[in-house]
Amino acid sequence: MTARRAILIELPKDRCDIGHIKRLIALTNLSYRDYEVWVTDMPRTIQNQLHGFRDFKGSLVLGTAPKRWFAKTWVPLKTLRIYQDGSMKGDKGAPVVLDFRRSVIRLRQVCKNEPRYVVTIPMPEWVVERVKESGDIKFAMIGLRDDEPYLALVAERVVEPYLPSNYVLVVDVNAWNNGIAWGLIKDGSIIRWKPERPKLSEIENLYNLSVRLSKKYGKLKRLGLDKTEEGMKLRREIRRVRRKLYAKLRDYVQKLVYRLVRKALKHRAFVIIDDMIEESRRELLEMKLSSGLRKLYLAYTRRFNKLLIAQLEWYGVPYKLKRLPSTVCPVCGHELTQEDSRVMVCTNCGFKAPRDKVPMYWAIRIL
Ligand SMILES: [Zn+2]
Repeated sequence: MTARRAILIELPKDRCDIGHIKRLIALTNLSYRDYEVWVTDMPRTIQNQLHGFRDFKGSLVLGTAPKRWFAKTWVPLKTLRIYQDGSMKGDKGAPVVLDFRRSVIRLRQVCKNEPRYVVTIPMPEWVVERVKESGDIKFAMIGLRDDEPYLALVAERVVEPYLPSNYVLVVDVNAWNNGIAWGLIKDGSIIRWKPERPKLSEIENLYNLSVRLSKKYGKLKRLGLDKTEEGMKLRREIRRVRRKLYAKLRDYVQKLVYRLVRKALKHRAFVIIDDMIEESRRELLEMKLSSGLRKLYLAYTRRFNKLLIAQLEWYGVPYKLKRLPSTVCPVCGHELTQEDSRVMVCTNCGFKAPRDKVPMYWAIRIL
């Protein structure tokens, strides 16, 4: 099985011509729709890239075929890898060069349409780690996010899942504000179990602050004062708060995934994931949350699932997705009643457990 992992790297804005990147994106879009357009003022080597990837548009991690015209298709690029011992892999004329001897990445002629224009950025630790794990970075992509230039690197590795031990790790994904719950099962009994929750107050405070500032900015804008010093300052502040908010959520997701994957590897466990996104969505709808916050929580729940699966695959951890109910009795199948502080009780057989632990009993039952 081929496992893939991707990383986004912010490119220096002052060294990139956004207009040129937009043009490359437009040409990629055309090429993906089977139009062969060759422009005269751009080197053939760069344009070859766009057409060379046409047959693989659906196969790259970030490269989905554009569903509509003017979709912002990222530009796929080949890479050349130069290793410590001087050996090379890939296309010598590739626009992206990963130079492990100098620990840099060089982008040739993709950031600006100027002959021999090169942007050099430091090699992220992430790349070195993936290569150490026998990964290879065959592709890169360049694109824009909120008009800021980014490079995406895609690491690829062929991996066979290991034969699991007598351990099973169960991951139950709830709506993000209830976090996730994990349980470690050994020979059919729960030996450890823990619900994990992000620090919601911090997140909600940042979210509320960004909403308040945005309202204030909206007011200034209606008065035509958004371009004043006060308006610009406010805009920068909004961006800063949002960045902090996303960084906090992202950081939490990454750390949690990292810990769970380590846990699985340590015990050579089989992993069962209940990723009921639909149920999470409904659970979130029932709560008194603003729609913005709900969207944010849901987005990060999805992100958690995606990242967890990508990393399990990367490390060859065998897993399956399985529905594990938390409102049905795992002993007799009767509907469970929820008591205070998320405790579930069966009025038929007397089963009682915290709501987040019920899926673990279900996992044992279906094993
Ligand atoms: Zn029961």
